[in-house]
Amino acid sequence: MRARFDHPEPRHVLPGEHPAWDRALALLNRDLAATLPEQGSLQLLALPSHDEDGPENVHVALANGEWHGNSLDPESADDPAAALAAVADAAQETVTERLRRAWPLCAEHGLGMHPRDADGQLSWSCAGERSRRGPAHIRAAVGGLDAFVRPRRPHRKGRR
Ligand SMILES: [Zn+2]
Repeated sequence: MRARFDHPEPRHVLPGEHPAWDRALALLNRDLAATLPEQGSLQLLALPSHDEDGPENVHVALANGEWHGNSLDPESADDPAAALAAVADAAQETVTERLRRAWPLCAEHGLGMHPRDADGQLSWSCAGERSRRGPAHIRAAVGGLDAFVRPRRPHRKGRR
């Protein structure tokens, strides 16, 4: 990377600029809130391209503005599945590297999980052994970890 004389400040990507990335990030933020509630929401930050005419480099950053890893592939912005895969990878790398912890953890094995396609749905997969049936198991769809951490109680109507 060439040294720049100017150091542009990253700017906040506005809601609606990249709707597929917004929706993907909302799912990752649900998982973050379910597992690391002390962390604020992840956000999309953009830096100008190194090429004058290129698209901005958009990163998934912590609430404090720090990120780690590559920017999101611009081509993923138009496809929901590609957007979710790209944002999940970037969110995981940012959280893992910046907070120096594996995330998210499998509650059964204590191992870091990775996003993997499961029947067309991106899901958190754990490499820990589950009985003898296979080397990997799926804990939850990306965006669905709250069901494991905070099981939903049935609505109790008429509660005082
Ligand atoms: Zn596991």
